[in-house]
Amino acid sequence: MKRKLLGMTPEELQNVVLDLGLPKFTAGQIAQWMYVRKVRSIDDMTNISKAGRELLKERYELGLVPYCEVVESVDGTKKYLFPVSTVRSGGLKNPDGTPVMEDSSVEAVMIPDGDRATVCVSSQSGCRMGCRFCMTGRQGFHGNLTVADILSQFVAIDEAGILTNAVFMGMGEPLDNFDNVMRVIEVLTADWGFGWSPKRVTLSTIGVIPQLKRYLEGTRCHLAVSLHNPFPEERLEMMPVQKAWNIEDVVSLLRQYDFTGQRRVSFEYTMFAGFNDSKRHADALVRMLRGLECRVNLIRFHRIPDFPYACSPAPVMEAFRDRLNRQGLTTTIRASRGEDILAACGMLAGRHGQKKL
Ligand code: SF4
Repeated sequence: MKRKLLGMTPEELQNVVLDLGLPKFTAGQIAQWMYVRKVRSIDDMTNISKAGRELLKERYELGLVPYCEVVESVDGTKKYLFPVSTVRSGGLKNPDGTPVMEDSSVEAVMIPDGDRATVCVSSQSGCRMGCRFCMTGRQGFHGNLTVADILSQFVAIDEAGILTNAVFMGMGEPLDNFDNVMRVIEVLTADWGFGWSPKRVTLSTIGVIPQLKRYLEGTRCHLAVSLHNPFPEERLEMMPVQKAWNIEDVVSLLRQYDFTGQRRVSFEYTMFAGFNDSKRHADALVRMLRGLECRVNLIRFHRIPDFPYACSPAPVMEAFRDRLNRQGLTTTIRASRGEDILAACGMLAGRHGQKKL
């Protein structure tokens, strides 16, 4: 199997070119073509000699995965579907010793907003966290995306050249694919990579504490935490992860870091009618987050089959927001985008046969 160049650091690329007997400076040229010019194939790297490109192609491929479908909302939001081939969990091997692969698809969503264009990327096919309100969680886990799979969601979409921001908020729990996600963030923020400021990147997690600590230590990017309920026993009803990583411990960890400067932390709170939208919940949320520099995003829930709760009515959401704001917790209701194209996580890929409802 050919190795993928997309995602490699300059040091790794240097090893590649020296190994092939190509000049050392070719490594920098490849990085420039992949991360700055965002080319679609090795053949497009035209300042590398034809012989050099042929040599590269014998043992390497770019690793860029083109999207297989795109749908566009009336509000300009675009949802891309990418085919992926992931290592099947359970360590199954083919007779030749190679891992058994599984084909599926993942989504990336591009959200235009004034002069910003944000891409929301997936980090896994399916997810093993099993949140009850989530279509991706219902699909089960199909495997981690590679660095090239994740970077393809930046490079292969039509807006590759105008993207301003990224959120790891698509399918999967990014901290459960830690090494690959961290490499992608390195490519996005390194001078030799995309050269983005860390302020342009936000990772969303349900709070996998050991990796969360490493993320906070290892990057200066923003963080969004899926909270959804301030009462541990009620949160557990929706989110099995609560058993392993208690939200109170997540918040305690966050208190050890500085969010008063450039780095921001926000809490995602999906509103379920009659489940987490009472005054009691609002007041508990204020108590839980008191003293932490943060904001809360209230999210409208898009109803899914075989799930008992609907979204809280708009007046309830507004009253909840106002109660939090009155008590000093900065809270907004997130604008829904792309509703006409099923923007909720996991829905497009689900339509393509992954879901197990
Ligand atoms: Fe996984 Fe996120 Fe869905 Fe939970 S909400 S199952 S962590 S993708």
